[in-house]
Amino acid sequence: MPWFKRVEKGIITPTEEKKETPDGLWYKCPSCKTVTSTAEHRKNLSTCVKCNYHDRIGSKEYFAILFDDNKFVEMDEKMTSGDPLNFVDSKPYPQRTAATQKATGLHDAVRTAYGKMNGQDITIACMDFAYIGGSMGSVVGEKIARAIDHARKTRTPFLMISKSGGARMMEAGFSLMQMAKTSAKLALLAEEKLPYISLLTDPTTGGVTASYAMLGDFNIAEPGALIGFAGPRVIKETIGKDLPKGFQSAEFVLEHGFLDFIVDRKELKGKLADLLQMLLPKETPAEAKPKPRKTQKA
Ligand SMILES: [Zn+2]
Repeated sequence: MPWFKRVEKGIITPTEEKKETPDGLWYKCPSCKTVTSTAEHRKNLSTCVKCNYHDRIGSKEYFAILFDDNKFVEMDEKMTSGDPLNFVDSKPYPQRTAATQKATGLHDAVRTAYGKMNGQDITIACMDFAYIGGSMGSVVGEKIARAIDHARKTRTPFLMISKSGGARMMEAGFSLMQMAKTSAKLALLAEEKLPYISLLTDPTTGGVTASYAMLGDFNIAEPGALIGFAGPRVIKETIGKDLPKGFQSAEFVLEHGFLDFIVDRKELKGKLADLLQMLLPKETPAEAKPKPRKTQKA
């Protein structure tokens, strides 16, 4: 059957010359299945043009969205975890750390930086889910604590962007200590009357929800974000009941009083700037300052 056989020899295209659609040129929305070009999706800040599904993004993208001209100074950039427990699961923890750092280009699951947002000084800590599920270990806690100290020292508002599966298993008890540590630092920030805004993105769960993510002067979230402590399966097994529809979505959590508002990523920067304008004490312009009164002598 010559139709199905290659009669001529030598018609072979090497793999690298094969004309196929390059990977990552198109984006398919996991929610409504609409297909758009990756460029357009990115231009829309990784939200679906049709259904507004908010795709997960990392600290690099959030910093680009929030800091003016994407200009910021990163703090404690190279801080990495030790291996206090000599933890081994499918591989030793230091090996996992090295492999994850190589694959993601990140040093741990949070990045902290300061810069200007709409001309206003701000300190931001943003978690990366790509780094071991955005898990909270000792580096995450330490970097957040130091970022809060920076906010206190420079008297700037603090924004925390959470995205985490919870505590980091490989650091066990050390991870849990970060909940108390970050909460204590936030209490100091509050004492000094500096605003703390917590943005919860998809997903924010476990020890992160149980500590800094829910301690904001304003707790806000992105639409559709999964927010909770334990996962739905664990809760269902514990209480032996079916869970209501939309359970643990940002909208459900808002309705039950745990959030102040939900903000579309495309309006995030503007809304945050407006909110901080309201929270920060107005500086009295020099000419408006009351003139020292002349003391009248009797
Ligand atoms: Zn969609």
